[in-house]
Amino acid sequence: MKILVLNAGSSSQKSCLYEIADEALPTQAPQPLWEGKVNWTQDKGVAEVEVKTATGAKLQESIPGDSPQAHLTYMLNTLTRDVTKVINQLSEIDLVGHRVVHGGQDYRESVVITEDVKKAIANLSNLAPEHNPSALAGIEAIENILEKVTQVAVFDTAFHSTLPDAVAIYPGPYEWVDQGIRRYGFHGISHQYCSGRAAQILGKDLASLRLITCHLGNGCSLAAVKNGRSIDTSMGFTPLEGLMMGSRSGSIDPGILIHLLRYCDYSIKKLDYILNKTSGLRGISDISSDMREVTKAIAQGNTRAKLAWDMYVHRLRSGIGAMLTSLGGLDALVFTAGVGENSPGIRQAACEALGFLGLKIDLEKNQQQPVDEDIATDDSAVRVLVIHTKEDWAIAQQSWQLLK
Ligand code: ADP
Repeated sequence: MKILVLNAGSSSQKSCLYEIADEALPTQAPQPLWEGKVNWTQDKGVAEVEVKTATGAKLQESIPGDSPQAHLTYMLNTLTRDVTKVINQLSEIDLVGHRVVHGGQDYRESVVITEDVKKAIANLSNLAPEHNPSALAGIEAIENILEKVTQVAVFDTAFHSTLPDAVAIYPGPYEWVDQGIRRYGFHGISHQYCSGRAAQILGKDLASLRLITCHLGNGCSLAAVKNGRSIDTSMGFTPLEGLMMGSRSGSIDPGILIHLLRYCDYSIKKLDYILNKTSGLRGISDISSDMREVTKAIAQGNTRAKLAWDMYVHRLRSGIGAMLTSLGGLDALVFTAGVGENSPGIRQAACEALGFLGLKIDLEKNQQQPVDEDIATDDSAVRVLVIHTKEDWAIAQQSWQLLK
């Protein structure tokens, strides 16, 4: 069976094609036959299309035009032509899985996309304005290209639909609950994938494990996973709550917002921009939202970069502490995504605060670019895992399972 995955970002559409036997899912992620990406971050009116295949063929082109649908169609057509050809016709695709960031209260698991599901995704756009509309654009582009194919929506919020009410409801007026103002949590596809993979690496049953998964990318979130279910997480109504991130503030006193609106002539637009785009590592360091740049600046003696690092670590440790008390114990701490997978310094700093649990990180293993590995010492009371998150594979798996 050939499954196409589309992963819509705010300014890009990533895609890949998997081939999976009809009978059973492989236990580990296979390499995709083909991977494509359309980037709209450069000049308006031009899209950068990048494609690579499992056999090493590569293509990179700038495609003019203002229609994202046309750009997407162009990228998908590379599946059947020239050096990047991996199938004869697009009609060979059996199933298409989409990452949809917000599923609201109604979508607690993956669903086959119908007109009603599309309407719901559109209606939830005001809760995820940067993401849900692009997912919808991807769904409609596929409808135009492959009329009859089954499409599945896999929601980033779904994994957290098991949050208990005491965790999910904000201590505002109770009417907020009826208005849908509650904690949804995000990065669920990654937290779920990493939980399953952690159990595999440890050779344990997921149903017996207490895990904290740290998804530290541009956006950062934690999840407390007990017996395979998310029971607490750091992001909330929007992906702005919780940890300090690349360019997002994470949690701040809501009184600051009232103060800025009342006394500092802030508009809603400006507030939105500042909290999402110019805060976090970028805002404090004044260097970059990229942890690599911040780390370089620290090595050059930049004190603002050092402050940004210290704040990031402090908030990460506090967040882990909160997840720990929700779980009431810990079997493994899992690091994933750009920073989690690639920054030994952040992993070490987070782990140092957990020594009182008997958690001991092996400093040598931590430095050796671990991938899907346990980096705790043999005598550590808690395992520490570094897992390469595979959201696209998780989407393909869930789509396959739904169809079966
Ligand atoms: P996204 O959240 O957009 O999916 P990623 O998970 O790819 O992003 O994470 C991107 C971030 O990962 C970068 O902004 C950078 O801060 C961080 N990163 C990538 N490589 C490294 C590295 N070698 N050391 C430290 N941080 C890294």
